[in-house]
Order: sequence, then C-alpha cells, then structure tokens
Amino acid sequence: MNAAKIVIGNWKMHGSWARLREFADLLRHEKLGCQAALCVPFPLLGAAQAALQATPLRWGAQDCSTEVEGAYTGEVSAHMIREAGARYVLVGHSDRRRRHRETDGLVAVKARRALAAGLTPVVCVGETADERDLHQTESVLRSQLRELVRALDRDIAHALVAYVPVWAVGRGDAATPGLIDEALDFIERTLAFHGRASAGAVRLLYGGSVQPGNAEALLSRRRVDGVLVGAASLRVHEFADICRAAARCMH
Ligand code: PEP
Repeated sequence: MNAAKIVIGNWKMHGSWARLREFADLLRHEKLGCQAALCVPFPLLGAAQAALQATPLRWGAQDCSTEVEGAYTGEVSAHMIREAGARYVLVGHSDRRRRHRETDGLVAVKARRALAAGLTPVVCVGETADERDLHQTESVLRSQLRELVRALDRDIAHALVAYVPVWAVGRGDAATPGLIDEALDFIERTLAFHGRASAGAVRLLYGGSVQPGNAEALLSRRRVDGVLVGAASLRVHEFADICRAAARCMH
C-alpha cells in the first residue's frame, strides 16, 4: 500500500494570524505529498480555516472537552472544533497530562468525543524520563492504551496514536530510531492483543524533537507513519522541509 505519511504540527500556546498567513503564502502552491496539519490554539481555529483552506495544509486543535455541550465554562467541544473545519485534535499531550492532571480515562473519553464529532484524534502516549529510567516504558504505554481501546473499541483504527516520550520533547535530540521502533512495535502489539485492531491497522506517529535534520531518518522507518512536530512547526521553512522529507518517505 502506498500511504502518504502524516505530519502534524503542534503550535502549543504560540502563533498568530500573521504566522498563519506566512504558512499560507509559502505553501499555497506546494504539492506536499504528505498529509500535513497544524494544531493551533482555539482562538486561531477560525483564522486557520480562512488562511489554510486554499492550501494543502489542514488544521486542528490541541484539546477538546469530555462533554458534548452545557455549562462547562472555558471548555470547547469536539463538535465546535469540527465546525471550524478542523480535521484533527490532539488528546492526552503530556503538557495536559502533567499540568491538568489528565488521566488515561479522561483522555480516552476525549478521543471518543473527537471521533463522534468527525475529527481524527491524535492520541499522545509516552513515558517520562523517570519512568524510562525505572524501565517502566512498556507498563506506562500499556495502561495508557488500555483505557483507549476500552473506550474506542474497533474505532481505534480511525485514531492516530502518537508515541511522544516526554523526555524527548523540546530537547533538540529525538529518541533513537531503534528505541522508536521498539515502542511502536509494542504499541502495535498491545492494540492487536486487545483484539481491537489487526497489526498495522492503527497509524502510529512519533513526536519529540523532530526537525528538518532528522525527519527523513525518522520517517523512513517502516513503522513510523508520521510525526508530531512541536517547535519546528512554528517555523514555516522548517515545517515545509519536514513535509518534503515525509513525501520522500512515502511507504
Ligand atoms: C510536542 O510538544 O508536541 C513536541 C513534539 O515538541 P518538540 O517537537 O518541540 O519536541
């Protein structure tokens, strides 16, 4: 199968209308050869729709509510995000797991809400440095995935699972390809073990210090269907270079 690789940018709490226009200006006439999207802060979703719709770039949000509608001040539903033309929503990013104490169960409900609203959830999983040092990577991934498969059942095949080891985020050095292969194989086996997805049915991403200089080496790994890009996704030329690397690595 010739599947296009996926490049998802996570702008975190950065960005502006002007920056979105910069992306639109550079990428409007580019044939990307991959599926690429920018996950922007909520107030920029409308601006992303206006700026990016005539480009090959799609857009998404960085979180959604566990609720559908109601008295939930400050929350944004998956349906509202979809109404802004978004395709994707990140759930369970380590920033949110840590700062907002999001549990595996809550992340799983968010992923279910996203799918029900017609969005593709990009479910982030991964261990901290301490957990890695204590050799707990597999047990952390197993428990992060358990709630997810329980909540999504066979619909897990419509989600993207991103392995984003917390210790590799914003550091400059990505995890080694060998380590990424091991983690992605483990994720794939765990999903298959739970009987919800045949091996290879769920597309898997890697995130953590992906940059133009390492993107091709990472994306050319057989099991890496795409990448989640933080800091480099804010710089239009770097993001474009990562997309071009993804196009060269099409399966
Ligand atoms: C992220 O926080 O989602 C991320 C992958 O960050 P960076 O690429 O900057 O490591």
